[in-house]
Amino acid sequence: MTKKIETDILIIGSGPAGYSAAIYAARANLNPHLVSGLEPGGQLTITTDVENYPGFGDVIQGPWLMEQMKEQALKVGTKFHHDIVNKVEFDKNPFLAETDSGIEFLSKSIIIATGAQARWLNIESENKFKGFGISACATCDGFFFKDQNIIVVGGGNSAVEEALYLTNFASKVTLVHRRDKLRAEKILQNRLLNHPKIDVIWDHIVEEFIGSDEPLTLKKIKLRNVNNKCEKMIDATGAFIAIGHDPATSLFNNKIKMDNDNYIITKPDSTETNIKGVYAAGDVKDKVFRQAVTAAGMGCMAALEAEKYLAENY
Ligand code: NAP
Repeated sequence: MTKKIETDILIIGSGPAGYSAAIYAARANLNPHLVSGLEPGGQLTITTDVENYPGFGDVIQGPWLMEQMKEQALKVGTKFHHDIVNKVEFDKNPFLAETDSGIEFLSKSIIIATGAQARWLNIESENKFKGFGISACATCDGFFFKDQNIIVVGGGNSAVEEALYLTNFASKVTLVHRRDKLRAEKILQNRLLNHPKIDVIWDHIVEEFIGSDEPLTLKKIKLRNVNNKCEKMIDATGAFIAIGHDPATSLFNNKIKMDNDNYIITKPDSTETNIKGVYAAGDVKDKVFRQAVTAAGMGCMAALEAEKYLAENY
């Protein structure tokens, strides 16, 4: 059954950008509705320690931070929907957004804060062992790999943080990187390279995940040296893929201007998209900074810009 909701601001997404937009919009008496998406709280709900979000003297936990943001957004009047937007139409005014549970939002403005999602290696054997040894979330699944040998693939901040976190469970962690340099911050690199439980295999890519069928269990990983093409087999019962993210923008294909990597394009120093009244904030439009604090800042900007748009146009 379809339920119609008319609103001034619809926010799609529930990461730091979405919640910050909601807090600002609600405090401007705009009665925002927020549709959370599949993973309420976004990427920070699959992180552990956060020590770079300002305002906290002690290390805090990502999931806790997101709970606090949600609580704050609700307290100031945001209407929260644990639902998924499956269709948008920007050529109607008000804009239309339909959800899986059958809600039809008619909204004068929309803030897109759908974030980004984990990237996979996309090799056949990866699919086979996904959930049976292969994961993209150390926080979610690390516990299942107690006293095991595991690998982490990637060379960015995520890969290094995941490798460090996984030493809490695993007997040994091997970071496999396709180059001979990490792109992670120096402080993280130092922690990684000096950790007694972590080895790094440079210049290698994963070629195949190998294991048994019944029960489905990962046992070995075939690597290939990118320079001399030699094969290397390592024993590992877990593999964490940490090779970056893709913006969650498939819902907006051909409806809004995006760049070649499918990030939504916004005007300089603004969250305004090519459609008046539609704004984009956070990782969905940002491939440079991609931080919780920058996403939150953009959420605030989007709400302020939407408020101005509504005042001038309605
Ligand atoms: P990233 O910085 O884009 O790094 C992705 C890594 O995966 C790179 O090392 C890349 O190799 C490798 N890679 C990509 N595709 C691959 C493939 N098909 N096979 C093998 N390796 C592949 O992604 P991220 O680490 O997820 O970080 C994303 C952003 O979030 C960054 O801006 C980062 O600084 C930020 N971040 C910050 C924190 C923090 O501040 N605490 C924590 C996590 C993430 P190359 O190096 O060869 O390209």
